[in-house]
Amino acid sequence: MRPNRPIYLDHHATTPLDPRVAAAMRPWWEENFANPHSVEHAMGREAEAAVEGAREHVAALIGAEGREIIFTSGATEANNLAIKGAARFAGAEGKRRVITLATEHKCVLESVKSLASEGFEPVILPVQSDGLLDLAVLEAALRVPTVLVSVMAVNNEIGVTQDLAAIGVLVRAAGAAFHIDAAQAPGRVALDVHAVQADLVSLTAHKMYGPKGVGALYVRRRPRMRLAPLFSGGGQERGLRSGTLPAPLLVGMGEAARIAASEGLLDAGRIAGQRDRFFNALSAEIEGLQLNGHATARVAGNLNLSFPGRVDAQALMRAAPGLCVSTGSACSSAEIEPSYVLAALGIPQGQARATLRMGFGRFTSPAEADQAALLLVAAWRQVVAQSQAAD
Ligand SMILES: *Cc1c(COP(=O)(O)O)cnc(C)c1O
Repeated sequence: MRPNRPIYLDHHATTPLDPRVAAAMRPWWEENFANPHSVEHAMGREAEAAVEGAREHVAALIGAEGREIIFTSGATEANNLAIKGAARFAGAEGKRRVITLATEHKCVLESVKSLASEGFEPVILPVQSDGLLDLAVLEAALRVPTVLVSVMAVNNEIGVTQDLAAIGVLVRAAGAAFHIDAAQAPGRVALDVHAVQADLVSLTAHKMYGPKGVGALYVRRRPRMRLAPLFSGGGQERGLRSGTLPAPLLVGMGEAARIAASEGLLDAGRIAGQRDRFFNALSAEIEGLQLNGHATARVAGNLNLSFPGRVDAQALMRAAPGLCVSTGSACSSAEIEPSYVLAALGIPQGQARATLRMGFGRFTSPAEADQAALLLVAAWRQVVAQSQAAD
């Protein structure tokens, strides 16, 4: 580790590459670069075998079969393919409703909303003040014939986990398809596609210590989930995702999935320890710190904290340059608008502006957790003193 390296507490935006994943990928960049679809020659067949091995690891992570996994460029593409693909295949003549939650990732919300122009009826359900969906609200929405319901496994800002099994029962009973954006789940919570009756599940490698630019969509075979593809092309991935498969990235995703499946729960226990250590140190010094989102239905590494004293989160971050944290999701943190996820929880704008998101990860050490708390307490005191001086 280089000295004065920033402390990285932004694991919901992306995770570092696990060194084991980097090692698994290396030969597929440097030695065998063949196209995995070039099965006429030995190098191509070898690459194909590596890709199929990776597919099995990704499937095993969620209790699926290899042939139910479609590789994509990430979770954004997987979510677009799931939502638009399912709606377009079904057509807007029959079931027209497409349901999701106000706290979903932008790519889900925008995919659902875009279907309005194709004759569908987007329905964005509210969540409760703890971030959880009220099942009665979903049940009521499902009384109108519905094509698809999309609910995320783990929220990328507040870390809240929805009751997917209970949601799956309602969705299946209503005859709709159930899509889960599980980008934040691997290594944090166990997810079994059969236990939750999911028809479609989106994954991305870079949130599970794998490479950026690769993801997957689980597409159930029994009963068979039908999709219209987004791309025209050579018909790879059972016609659902044309384009040459990036073998090195897929091998990396496979290795990341293998590690997440075998070590995820160990990780979660250790990560919860670092997070609690940090949170206890912080709350001992800062009275009135508020945790947003459900206190226990949340993943181990997440904290979404509102600071007292009318501090501005941007000012806090400037006062602690050695800390990598965020004011919201990575996608919207460049915008000035406070988080729409916090707004959906009914959190006032003033409080949302004083809020930081932290995500602890596999390689966060106890020393880093302690140091991060010290840096943040000092930053908070400095910003409070500045704003009092300005009064
Ligand atoms: C990161 C993320 C995405 C987008 O994934 P990419 O692979 O970066 O496209 C989608 N949904 C959630 C919940 C995420 O955290």
